[in-house]
Amino acid sequence: MLDRYKREISYLRISVTDRCNLRCHYCMPEKDPALLKHSDILTFEEIQQVVSVAVPLGITKIRLTGGEPLVRKDIIKLVSMIADVEGVEDIAMTTNATMLEKFAVPLAKAGLHRINISLDTMDADNFRLITRGGDIHKVFRGIAAAKEAGLHPIKINCVVKGDDRQGAEKVREFGLREGLEVRFISEMDLQTGHFGIVEGGSGGDCRQCNRLRLTSNGKMKPCLFSDLEYDIRELGIEKAIEMALVNKPAKGTVNMMNAFHNIGG
Ligand code: SAM
Ligand code: SF4
Repeated sequence: MLDRYKREISYLRISVTDRCNLRCHYCMPEKDPALLKHSDILTFEEIQQVVSVAVPLGITKIRLTGGEPLVRKDIIKLVSMIADVEGVEDIAMTTNATMLEKFAVPLAKAGLHRINISLDTMDADNFRLITRGGDIHKVFRGIAAAKEAGLHPIKINCVVKGDDRQGAEKVREFGLREGLEVRFISEMDLQTGHFGIVEGGSGGDCRQCNRLRLTSNGKMKPCLFSDLEYDIRELGIEKAIEMALVNKPAKGTVNMMNAFHNIGG
């Protein structure tokens, strides 16, 4: 499907939860954030229904994100339900990988093709600081398990703090050693809501943007950096997709309504 700027929209990012087992300082507040009620979160059946409606309209690629997608109960079942929808060509996930060691093989078997893993540093202490308590060794074990399971390609998302080029360089070297593609993301300021560019990724170049986003409580968003959203439960799935498509802005500006953990970064 084409939007009004003639961009072919083929990619749907689905946030399956606003919850996370980490508390990265650039993404989540330290104290427990205001989380959605369980009853507001889309059921697996609703998510599958959205995919079933979106595919005939032109969506071929699905990415599951969050929050942390692996904390959503029975996530493997959701992956297989999405894989069952005829016309889905590609299923990907963005994860912090701390729980990936046990999930990598079942995810691959359920139909997940590839995975993006967030890793900002190679230093265990720094990782603990950035994530407010995370264990980097679990991430390394998760990456090894993903390779073993045949998830391919494995990409690393590395958020670079303005002055930490050295830390980023170590992540780049790790990627080269392990055959992983590393993409650098500049930290976005959630106070101002403005967006940044993903180096080596397609995000940030609005002319190339091919995506829509679905929040975990069923809002179809045409752009990460816009307040526009269309409720699939109120409008119906097809109408919400249509509204998101016709109102997709030429360029991202500001989003003061949401944080990454509830839209899905
Ligand atoms: N929990 C998963 C993870 O960390 O990969 C998936 C969700 S997370 C919100 C998706 C991506 O958003 C991560 O790669 C994370 O680094 C990025 N992100 C979160 N807050 C950000 C910010 N303020 N600026 C830039 N990237 C951010
Ligand atoms: Fe959790 Fe991912 Fe946000 Fe970190 S970036 S707090 S891992 S959702």
